[in-house]
Formats: sequence, C-alpha cells, structure tokens
Amino acid sequence: VSMARQVVQRAKEAFLSGRTRPLEFRLQQLQSLQRMITEKETEICTALKQDLHRSQYDTPLLELISIENELKLAMEKLSEWASRRPVEKNLLSLSDEVYIHPQPLGVVLIIGAWNYPWAVTLLPLVGAIAAGNAAVVKPSELSEHSSLLLRALLPRYLDMELYPVVMGGASETQELLRLRFDHIFYTGSCAVGRLVMEAAARYLTPVTLELGGKSPCYIDKNCNIMVACRRITWGKFVNCGQTCIAPDYILCERSIQGRVVDCIRQTLLEFYGIDPKSSPDYGRIINRHHFNRVVGLMEGYAPVLGGQSDPSQCYIAPTVLRDVPPHSRLMQEEIFGPVLPIVTVSDMDDAISFINEREKPLALYIFSSDKKAINKMMEETTSGGVTVNDVMMHYTLSSLPFGGVGQSGMGRYHGKHTFEQLSHHRACLVRSLAMENVNLSRYPPQDRRRARR
Ligand code: NAD
Repeated sequence: VSMARQVVQRAKEAFLSGRTRPLEFRLQQLQSLQRMITEKETEICTALKQDLHRSQYDTPLLELISIENELKLAMEKLSEWASRRPVEKNLLSLSDEVYIHPQPLGVVLIIGAWNYPWAVTLLPLVGAIAAGNAAVVKPSELSEHSSLLLRALLPRYLDMELYPVVMGGASETQELLRLRFDHIFYTGSCAVGRLVMEAAARYLTPVTLELGGKSPCYIDKNCNIMVACRRITWGKFVNCGQTCIAPDYILCERSIQGRVVDCIRQTLLEFYGIDPKSSPDYGRIINRHHFNRVVGLMEGYAPVLGGQSDPSQCYIAPTVLRDVPPHSRLMQEEIFGPVLPIVTVSDMDDAISFINEREKPLALYIFSSDKKAINKMMEETTSGGVTVNDVMMHYTLSSLPFGGVGQSGMGRYHGKHTFEQLSHHRACLVRSLAMENVNLSRYPPQDRRRARR
C-alpha cells in the first residue's frame, strides 16, 4: 500500500471517529494554527526569502496577515456559521422544524501553488477545519523551503492524522488524485486544473479551482495617472510579478501611453532604486524553467523600461513593453513575471471589447475619475473580482468571495465563503407524528383522496 493511500486512509478514519464534530475541537485546532503563525513568523519569512527572495516585510503583509485575520474571523463566527439556519416554511410545514444544517464533507484534498505557498494552503485549511473536515495538504514542490517548513510545522501544531501534509510534484499529486476525496481544493494553473477536474469526475468529487489567467488593467485618460501607476507598479512587481491577481497588462489610449510609461519609470526608481537587482525589496523568479519561460515571452520586443536578466539568479528586471500587438504570444498566456505590456485601444468601448473577446479574467482593474465610465465598464464586462482605482484590494476582504469565473476557476473562498464551500448544506425537515389528518389527501386510493379534499 502506498504512503499516500495510507495517509488518506488514516485521515478518513480520523474523520469517521467523529472528533471533528464538536466545535470546541475545531476552535482548539484553529487556535493552535494561529499560534503556529505567530511563533514561526520569522522562519516562514526566511523560507520565502530563500524560495522567492521575497522581502521580509512583504510576507506578513501579503500572506500572514490575511491568514491571521481569517483565523480570527473563523474562531469568532464558528458557532454562528455552524448552527442550524431556519428557513421559510409553507402551509404544510407550519408546525415542522425546517432548517439548513451545514455539515462537514469528509476528507478534503488541498493542492497549492508555489507563489504564495502559505496563503494558498492555509486559507483553505482554515475553512476545512472550521467546517469540521479532515484535510490532506499537498504544497507545491517548487517553493521547496516553504513546503518543507510547512510539513515540519503542521504536525507539531495540528492533529496529525486529520491534517497530514503530503510532499511531492506532479507524479505524487497524480497518485493522490487517484484516491477518493470528498472535495478537492486546487490552486494553480488552468492546465493542471483540468487534470484535477478530470480525476475528480471519477468519484464525482466536487472541486474548487482557483486558477489564473490574464487580468487586464484599464487606465482611463480621465484619471490621476501618477497615482494609478504607483498602485499598478506595486501590484505588478511585488513578488516579482508572480501573483495570480497581478495586473497582467495595461490597456489605455495611445495619447496617455507615454505618460503612463514615465510614471511607472519614476515609481520603479522610487521603489527599487537604480539597480533593482540589489534591492532587498525586489524578488526573483521561482526557478530556471519559469525564468526561461518569461524571458522567452519578451523575445522580439525592445523594452521601454528594464529588460535585463540574469539566469544565475533567476533575476528579471521590472520590464515595460509599449505598443504590444493585441494578438502577440505575450497577449495569449498569463505572464506571471515582472513584464508589463501596454496595449493601446482607441477608447473605452474598444477596451471593453478587447476584454470580452478573451477568456473571463480572475481580476479586472479600472482606473478612472469618471463614475459613469467606471459603471459602464463594470456593467459590460465580467471577471472573478474587480477593484476600481487600485489593484488586488478586493482580495483582502474576507467578506468578498474570492474566485474565478469561466477559465479563471470555479468556486469561491475567504472568510465565511470557505466554510460554505467546504460544507454540505443539508436540507432538514423535522415533523412530529401528530396531525395525521393533514396528510390524508396525499394517500391513495384516488376516490377516497377526492372525497377528503
Ligand atoms: P501548477 O499547476 O504548476 O502547480 C500547482 C500544484 O499542482 C502544485 O502543487 C503541483 O505539485 C501540482 N501539479 C503540477 N503539475 C501537476 C500534474 N501534472 N498533475 C497533478 N498535479 C500537478 O501551478 P503553479 O505554477 O504552481 O501556479 C501558478 C498558477 O497558479 C498561475 O496560473 C496563477 O495564476 C495560479 N494561481 C492562482 C491563485 C488563485 O487564488 N486563483 C493563486 C495562486 C496561483
């Protein structure tokens, strides 16, 4: 029997033991997870420095605060979330108890990506624990230091049978996917998302797919371009462009393109100095494979900013490309690196068609001072989420469901939404054996039925 099979079997038995049912148990596990984040913050930041050269300041800001907030919220709201939810009754159920009861699903498989290795595994885990599930966590093999640390830490803080960590890459994940789960929560690329859904179909296992894609960023000419560009520059180049909701490309009218480039140049200088390579605030590409992929995407362009790279460090300078043709390869696949193309459009309607002709994005960003224009663009487009006059901020609210639409994914999470996603909403009707008269009209034989009416 394989390791993976054993681990999953043990998680299932632990789930069936019933120990996740009492809310006190779930609360205690959540508290323990919270303690892990507080006590191990330095180690976590160091691991990410090793994986991505990420600034020590960015890890709390980008990952740990959101995990802590969600833990806090889950602990505060758990009894409310998990309790029965009475619903409206009809005439025939007036004296019944009718309610929705959220129940755990069983064993959840959480498969994570490498770009925010803690958030993409622990945020689903918070919801899985709160909802009373067992969960097998499979972090990405590419964020090696973080994954090893996660595997070392989790069993020290959590019930190790209920919440095991399984290590490995594609083949180990494929092995897991051949086993039976009650839900699969996947974060990563669309291509692998498809494999996950295929494997899940075998057992009719429900899936949540948090995928990627190209998130457009529209800058209206009626806009404070300097402020817009500061916000965009931060969101694009933080974590070296390896953020699922980073603005992938800019759409703007040709008349403001020059000004946009100038403002980004000025901001980059302010953020990372003359030489971003020596800035402690500027990251690296995760590995040589992705480095080659991103460098390949820039081929044939003369960057208006940046363009330098160093394979020995997986370093790619913050790069901006102007007048990028809308049908170039760069505009077909998610960039997932520090390369920002600008595509010019003739006006907002043109930008809207541009967006609607492509796959539905995970995020959309609109910068404008014109309320009417903003509303028009929001009405006439779709995306998993949208932030107006900033980037990525819709992600930071637990009250907003986070997830994609179409090719950018299915299902949603964060805060209560994670609890909902990983619960079964059981329909419950509890009746007494009294008042049998009410039921007579539904029993055969026909003629007596008619007479009773
Ligand atoms: P990936 O698909 O390469 O890997 C993700 C996970 O899948 C890893 O755990 C990996 O081990 C596993 N995996 C890889 N190949 C597999 C295979 N053939 N069979 C089974 N499992 C396999 O994705 P990635 O490169 O790690 O992540 C980048 C992508 O993730 C980007 O598209 C990004 O936009 C997206 N992403 C989305 C979110 C979100 O919340 N929507 C968050 C982070 C990243």
